[in-house]
Amino acid sequence: MERTGDKYPGLFGGTLAAWLGQPLVLGAAWLVLWRLSALMEYAPHASIWFPPAGLSFAAFLVLGFRPLPVLLACGIVVTFWSNALYGVSQPWTQTLAAGTLFSLAHVGAYWAGAAALRRLFVRGSGERLPTLIIAFLMLATLSALAASLLGTRALAVAGTLEAGSINETWIPWWIGDMAGAIVLGPLFAGLLVRGNSAAGDRLRELGLLRTDSPASFWLGKVALVIVLLALLMLVTAQFGRSELLAFAVFFLILPQMWITYTESALRVAASVAAFSVAAAVLVDVLGLMDQAMAYQFAVIVIAASSYFGLSVPVLIDQNRRLRNLVDADPLTGVDSRRHFFQRAQFELGRARRRDLPVSLVLFDIDHFKRINDEYGHTAGDRALVAVARTVRASLRGEDLIGRFGGDEFMVLLVGSGMNLALETAERLRRDLHGIEVGDRATLSGSFSAVEIGADERLSDAFERADARLLAAKRAGRDRLVGRDAHEA
Ligand code: GH3
Ligand code: MG
Repeated sequence: MERTGDKYPGLFGGTLAAWLGQPLVLGAAWLVLWRLSALMEYAPHASIWFPPAGLSFAAFLVLGFRPLPVLLACGIVVTFWSNALYGVSQPWTQTLAAGTLFSLAHVGAYWAGAAALRRLFVRGSGERLPTLIIAFLMLATLSALAASLLGTRALAVAGTLEAGSINETWIPWWIGDMAGAIVLGPLFAGLLVRGNSAAGDRLRELGLLRTDSPASFWLGKVALVIVLLALLMLVTAQFGRSELLAFAVFFLILPQMWITYTESALRVAASVAAFSVAAAVLVDVLGLMDQAMAYQFAVIVIAASSYFGLSVPVLIDQNRRLRNLVDADPLTGVDSRRHFFQRAQFELGRARRRDLPVSLVLFDIDHFKRINDEYGHTAGDRALVAVARTVRASLRGEDLIGRFGGDEFMVLLVGSGMNLALETAERLRRDLHGIEVGDRATLSGSFSAVEIGADERLSDAFERADARLLAAKRAGRDRLVGRDAHEA
């Protein structure tokens, strides 16, 4: 089915996702990322971050089993490549064995973590975004741990890693993998998701695909973070490479969280990725290998906080939408009864402090049941919508209009005393005559008006107005009653 009318036709129209989802392209991307991470190695098997871990995790998360063969092959290819890079000479059978074992460890670890998250993701409901984010952070960490423990042992079994080095190797391996999976996994997953896939639908349902501020704002914020990072790292490199200065990088969590709270999930993931790439490149360029761990931890902590923080704007947005649902009458869009009384109470208090009069007008459509009976409920609904629109257009911006229920509406006129209220109600009454229902019929309504007394409660004023409305109905409808029977 065509989904061209979709508000969010996939990230980059889904083309990038379709392209990146091709096994050969995915494999090539994985190899390029591996080569990049090899550039950032500060010790054997210890890179500042290991982006292929993020891609493996994301690919299994979004595509399920499908990437398994190509990623297995990639693991073997890089084992040969790595031997060539480091000039290790070894029988090819041994390299093949090492590559196969390493690859199985890597693929197995990330597949398992991603599969667990995938189950949660597909089953979960919209309110569980924070749970899903925690699950992602924990599963990515555990996958990285498994990949490093199994990976080091695999290489030891194959004889490419001395058994004695396992202990000093697995921790940096773990952290590098974790950085790759946590920091870059969400970006890769976002790039792999197609807008019209089940995963894309879930992302939309979770509120992660909300529309954004202009791209230039976002790029400006990212540039700010990168410039601050570069300045900090330059200062650290200049002044004795002190650990203390290196740790100042943690302050960058502030501008990063600003991005988190103001941009979409994909942009947040891209900002985190840009930050981590910049940190890795600058560590290399400025020769800050001794402080690498500080930057690595900062990147992981900032990424984890950013992703966790994503639930805040999503929850705020959901709250706002829920509020709108309860505050507005779903049919006519005017205030719901509850919201009208809430606002009316507030406006009344404000007007009294300023010594302004406030009046209340009630009206109910005459013989509305007949309209439903003769023209159908849809025509009745349309008539109610037209009434609300007509009345709204006839009032000042500061006046409130609410639907009490059924065909009864109420209007609060702030700053209007009785005379002005009568004038307004009379105008509204005539306005209703202009609303056509069906082919010939027009509407009429019965109206009442009260000026709210200086110490009168809103509910009491409402009761007075309701009694006058009843009197208007009894007196024959299509009229306005502005005083009580005993006043006549
Ligand atoms: P009266 O002149 O005495 O007001 O007569 P009425 O027929 O208007 O009677 P009343 O105000 O008591 O009843 C209102 C009717 O409005 C009852 C119900 O069938 C209809 N109604 C209430 N809510 C809706 C709605 O959301 N849509 C439609 N189409 N009809 C509604
Ligand atoms: Mg009625």
